[in-house]
Amino acid sequence: MFLDNADKKATNKKCKLCNFWHENQSHILKCRQLATIKKLIYEVSEAMGTSRRELMHTYGWLFNTNKEGTKSLNPTICALIRIYWRTVYRNLTHKKREKVKFNPYRVKQEILRHLMSRILAYQSEKQIFNMMRKYSSLQHILPKKAADLVSPLGNLNVKTGTLTIKNELKTIFKKYKVWTDFNLEVQKNESSAQQSPQH
Ligand SMILES: [Zn+2]
Repeated sequence: MFLDNADKKATNKKCKLCNFWHENQSHILKCRQLATIKKLIYEVSEAMGTSRRELMHTYGWLFNTNKEGTKSLNPTICALIRIYWRTVYRNLTHKKREKVKFNPYRVKQEILRHLMSRILAYQSEKQIFNMMRKYSSLQHILPKKAADLVSPLGNLNVKTGTLTIKNELKTIFKKYKVWTDFNLEVQKNESSAQQSPQH
């Protein structure tokens, strides 16, 4: 992590956000300027079925484990936390270099956009699987393990490969204007392909 306190060349070691406390790992975990963004992460994690209490500790935020450090958090939550840190640091560095204002709303939107694009990539991968199954003699279905893995996001139909996103998550994505309904887009494409056959 690129924190000023660890950077010997940095003259101003104060937090780039609050400009008050020393910028180090223990501070960045509790900097009040990030509170609203962390609140969103708790909201998303609760929508994914992980209570904020399970995440609300140093081990959760830094090592993606439970409070005792003995068990990894759900992989989707780990991915969410990684997206959080990456986005926060990119914006922190940007703020410092370009002297632009740190905009918490934009950071939140960026986090959700990133998460949405990961979901879309997954959905399109599973769509390809479905197509292959439909047009070939491939008859096997997806393993239940695959459905369990993405269950925090929604319901995966192991026969069709369609992942339907939970309403709780959809609401958050919509609120920040980053929602894309993959299944709806697929339907639209299919019906327009039927209406105008290209021969
Ligand atoms: Zn601070």
